[in-house]
Amino acid sequence: MIHRIGNTDIQPRHRLSCHCGAVVLELELPDGVVDPHRCDCSLCRRKGAITSGVPLNALHVIAGEEVLRCYQFNTLTAKHYFCGNCGIYTHHQRRSNPNEYGYNVGCLEVSVHSGT
Ligand SMILES: [Zn+2]
Repeated sequence: MIHRIGNTDIQPRHRLSCHCGAVVLELELPDGVVDPHRCDCSLCRRKGAITSGVPLNALHVIAGEEVLRCYQFNTLTAKHYFCGNCGIYTHHQRRSNPNEYGYNVGCLEVSVHSGT
């Protein structure tokens, strides 16, 4: 598991945001980022996102509930959420374990450059 990304320590309650900042989530991460991995499902493979998981009740939508959009396919079990404004994937409810949200490790708020 990961407790530090760049110069940023992962907090027990850590924020996650999309690129435009409309969507802000707060995650309870008492154990840091557990088992980050690249999901190989047909959707995540295309996104190239690194995901980790939290229990459903450990994810709180702080802002942007109204811009979050949900994409479903195949069995319509998993719910893939993304920002309707900037298109960034933030989190998803898993098919393999519906009691967990997967989240986009790349969306955790850390101090990095904002782009070129
Ligand atoms: Zn956004």
